[in-house]
Amino acid sequence: MPHFQMYINGSWCDAASGATYDAINPATAKPFATVSKGSREDAQRAVIAANEAQREWKRLPLWERSALCIKVADILDRRKAEIADILTTELGKPRHGEADMEASEASVPWRVAAETAKYFEGHTKPSQDAKKRVLTFWKPRGVVAVLTPWNFPAAIPGEYLPFAIVMGNTVCWSPAPTAAATAAKLMECIHEAGIPKGVINLVTGPGAEVGDELVVNPGTHAIGMTGSPGTARIIAARAGLKPRMFELGGNGPVIVLPDADIARIAPSIAFACYFAAGQVCSCSERIFVADNLHDELAEAMVHESRKFISGDPLDPKVIMGPQNNLAVVQKIEKHLQDALSKGARIVAGGKRPDRLGFFFEPTVLTNLPIDSLANHEETFGPIAKLRSFKNDDEAWKFINACNLGLVSSVFTRDVDQAWTWAEALNTGITVVNDFNHFWEHHLPFGGMASNDSGSGRIGGRHMLEFMSDLKTIAFNIGNPSI
Ligand code: NAD
Repeated sequence: MPHFQMYINGSWCDAASGATYDAINPATAKPFATVSKGSREDAQRAVIAANEAQREWKRLPLWERSALCIKVADILDRRKAEIADILTTELGKPRHGEADMEASEASVPWRVAAETAKYFEGHTKPSQDAKKRVLTFWKPRGVVAVLTPWNFPAAIPGEYLPFAIVMGNTVCWSPAPTAAATAAKLMECIHEAGIPKGVINLVTGPGAEVGDELVVNPGTHAIGMTGSPGTARIIAARAGLKPRMFELGGNGPVIVLPDADIARIAPSIAFACYFAAGQVCSCSERIFVADNLHDELAEAMVHESRKFISGDPLDPKVIMGPQNNLAVVQKIEKHLQDALSKGARIVAGGKRPDRLGFFFEPTVLTNLPIDSLANHEETFGPIAKLRSFKNDDEAWKFINACNLGLVSSVFTRDVDQAWTWAEALNTGITVVNDFNHFWEHHLPFGGMASNDSGSGRIGGRHMLEFMSDLKTIAFNIGNPSI
């Protein structure tokens, strides 16, 4: 079996303890590799290496740091087939669809960070003191702890790593344990590009140990984490005063207003439910539909759900892969059972198919109860959760029963209604007349302060800002003040 190591201070290494764990292929539930199981000691070594490296790295001209990020992007592009292969083996992503797509786009944020940083200007500021010339500069924060989830393990690290290093920071990165082999593959590309030793360090192992060490260690100076609200709460309690960026879960909603054209929009809504087996923070999840259109949409969703053929991810006909692990499947089942006990109905799917691995059928649930777990929490599975509403007040009661707000969409042909809903929905992004999965790497993405979907904004200059301290220099002309 292959073995995936950590990468600390420019060298591949095993855990100091020598411990390893099995990497599991979720399409078969069988091990395919071993991974180094790091501990606090390994994380501490990475922090020391990152601090040593930062002294030189921050002095390298920005243009040179940017050029190195472009080099990483070129290598990611050249090695995209290898990345797609490991995404299929480790995550069960269909090789000819989702895996290919994610691998092909892995280089994009490296290019966006490299280019945006070159035009990320400071300011000159007017002053009431005529003798002062005041300027602001972006300075690196120091060492950034980056904690990434398993659902897009080739894409999401790119939302942090290049933005951190191009601004002169160094990084200690810990990926989700079930996505560590993909992380090692990305690290190979970073190594091949010649990023100096210690600038990016990869430490694999349990989040509660390795991740926690990176959070609490005084040698890290900012934390970027994508994951679940529960983990973010633990990190927030442990992080002290360190600046932190949290990119957390979502739960829709999608709003279908009475004048929407169901035949036109149903395939789009279904894609946002079932793509990546529903394991996307921006999934449709909850779909609130005007009661005149409910039956038509439910029928269309059942029809669409049948197109999401699951099975062997190497089979070109397969569109939908498995869930990442058994706990994800069990959470889906818990949400469905709870919703059914409170009056929901399953009109398509609803169970594990009869095959090895962590698969779940694409499912359509109707009559989503307001007080159900599926309405309150992210399900993170291929489940379309429908609920009809009679009027706006009723729709808002359902929407507001959930304390998550990352991405929403609204479907209507009425321009006034579209703007009214788009402005009122308490999500970081609202998409009008298209599916929830809209984002590009230069655009801001994140949750709202009033809910649990995260804080801060990834994307383009917003991420560069997070990766920097804003330094003000006041220059005095003439006699000092008395
Ligand atoms: P998770 O919260 O279990 O883990 C996220 C990261 O935190 C992992 O690297 C993990 O090892 C680490 N971690 C776990 N416990 C820790 C601790 N005590 N201290 C420090 N680090 C710790 O999330 P997951 O299951 O890997 O990912 C799924 C979640 O991520 C979903 O909720 C999904 O919505 C969310 N997500 C959000 C976005 C976004 O952009 N908003 C994107 C993708 C995924």
